[in-house]
Amino acid sequence: MKRWLNNMGITIFNSLILKLLFASILVQTCLYVTDKQIGVLNLTAVPYWAKTLVTFVFMDFMLYVWHLLNHEMPFLWRFHRVHHTDLNMDVSSATRFHIGELAISAVIKISLVFFLGADMFGVLLFETLLVFTAQFHHSGLTVPQWFEKIFWILFVPPSMHRIHHSVVIKQRDSNYGTIFSIWDRILGTLITDVDQDRIRIGVGGHYEPAKLNFHHLLVMPFTAPVK
Ligand SMILES: [Zn+2]
Repeated sequence: MKRWLNNMGITIFNSLILKLLFASILVQTCLYVTDKQIGVLNLTAVPYWAKTLVTFVFMDFMLYVWHLLNHEMPFLWRFHRVHHTDLNMDVSSATRFHIGELAISAVIKISLVFFLGADMFGVLLFETLLVFTAQFHHSGLTVPQWFEKIFWILFVPPSMHRIHHSVVIKQRDSNYGTIFSIWDRILGTLITDVDQDRIRIGVGGHYEPAKLNFHHLLVMPFTAPVK
């Protein structure tokens, strides 16, 4: 219950301050690049459906790279570990992010929209599906084996992301994908052969629930580094 309150607290705090601001800037940027014909996709005549598709796939790949950097770069890990210190996983974990991480990623996303000349429909579709997929693979939902086997080929099922939340660092530094699982597959960061029942969720150095309250999470990036 306490854990859930913390996650809800962090979600509401982030949403109020950042999400509303970010969403409006993102939409304005999309409108601006389309109006001024800025970015790679506006260099030549590209059919509208292709612009949407490329925008969607590109944003997901960039999120994969960003997620990987969050694990590999000690400075970014300071922020991203807040998400990983959750000792259990459910829908509320999907929005448990430090506002610092969200702020840096918002700046990067807006820059990417500029660079790509991204299509607004593609960006909004991506952002919307991102929320649903993140909630789906943090949900701990048990899906039928046959469904998972097919889903896994292209997308990220809950079991794949659960491995990413393991206390075992080698397992944590894998399965970075959000919507598509193909990036992990192609770039060799996919781990599948883990006994799901034996996964311990969390970060080894942050295992005391009493030290994982809302205010602890807020200052965590500025405290001692923890692997
Ligand atoms: Zn992560």
